[in-house]
Amino acid sequence: MPASAAPFPAPRLGEPYLLTPGPLTTAFSTKEAMLKDWGSWDADFRAMTKSICDQLVALAGDTRGEFVCVPMQGSGSFSVEAMLGTFVARDGKVLVLANGAYGLRAAETMRYLGRAHTLIDKGDYMPPRGDEVGAALDADPGITHVIAIHCETSSGILNPVAEISEAVYARGRKLLIDSMSAFGAIDLDVNRIRYEAMVSSANKCIEGVPGFGFVVARRSELEAAKGNSHSLALDLHAQWAYMEKTGQWRYTPPTHVVAAFLEALRLHAEEGGVAARGARYVRNRDVMVEGMRAIGFETLLKDRWLSPIIVTFFCPADPNFVFARFYELMKAKGFIIYPGKLTVVDSFRIGCIGRMDEHVMRKVVQAAKEALAEMGVASAAPPEAAIAERAKLAA
Ligand SMILES: *Cc1c(COP(=O)(O)O)cnc(C)c1O
Repeated sequence: MPASAAPFPAPRLGEPYLLTPGPLTTAFSTKEAMLKDWGSWDADFRAMTKSICDQLVALAGDTRGEFVCVPMQGSGSFSVEAMLGTFVARDGKVLVLANGAYGLRAAETMRYLGRAHTLIDKGDYMPPRGDEVGAALDADPGITHVIAIHCETSSGILNPVAEISEAVYARGRKLLIDSMSAFGAIDLDVNRIRYEAMVSSANKCIEGVPGFGFVVARRSELEAAKGNSHSLALDLHAQWAYMEKTGQWRYTPPTHVVAAFLEALRLHAEEGGVAARGARYVRNRDVMVEGMRAIGFETLLKDRWLSPIIVTFFCPADPNFVFARFYELMKAKGFIIYPGKLTVVDSFRIGCIGRMDEHVMRKVVQAAKEALAEMGVASAAPPEAAIAERAKLAA
């Protein structure tokens, strides 16, 4: 279905649209798929798990049977911790590439794991580049792995993972990717971008509901990772080995979430896969950003780094603008938005992912326009300090 086809039906039950990057607005049929109870040991449920894993490996582009998928209960961070704890040997060392909250969380995870790591922190809104990753690896031969965040959801910046991958493998190191908020909508094909493992979760671009994450990993790396894990429950090798043997999850699976995810994957394929899903989100972003700019809002990032996942806008300088009130007005009009995370100036964020299209995004812009008028905000232009902050990011 082309991205510009008829509008998706509004979420039912009077729900607002979630313009937040997961949990997000899901299709009614995805919610409906949760109306049945499943036995976790039952052959029907085991087949559902297998289907999900097969489809996810296919989405990563593996056609040679070199990659496997291991689902893991919990939110996305559980799977990130499982990935780091399983693939990095206890005497390994990780270079963490951070430019926002999720990169810093990966570093914090390493600290909890008690394993060696070092950090490149680019602040909130600059991408880590291949050359600086290369220089850091040259300077420290002890680094075995690099973890990169694909889309840094806290700002919406899309990091250059292909360039990072080249720098990593040119020096014989290994790449792990947190593609939580990108996988399923932005290409991460193993034939084009080399990596050992990547992690995502049910409630991001595949448009399922929250409850589990998954790691798509090179089979040989996973086989070699036996015994690395610090944790019983988060041991991906053990989860995988048990699944291979029994077809079951090791511990209680989120059965309803799995059923919903299967339906979400069906809709993803029906839409046209990664390319079509990504194209819809790009269109969502373009229509929303263009509309917001037309009423005077400005984005933090330059177009080049704007992801089709979530966009950060400066709050207007006008003293009549109060974010909490803007939030409530938007909610009353049917849209849940997200506060910002900038340190110097106030901002807010609008997500582009979930079961919605450009028609919805036009209504979002219209709602923002009305909310400004109701607050008595004459201009949505940001304060001088915001412009100065952005000038610092001029690269
Ligand atoms: C959502 C997300 C996570 C995981 O967050 P949870 O709240 O644990 O689901 C990790 N990394 C990125 C980049 C994300 O967008």
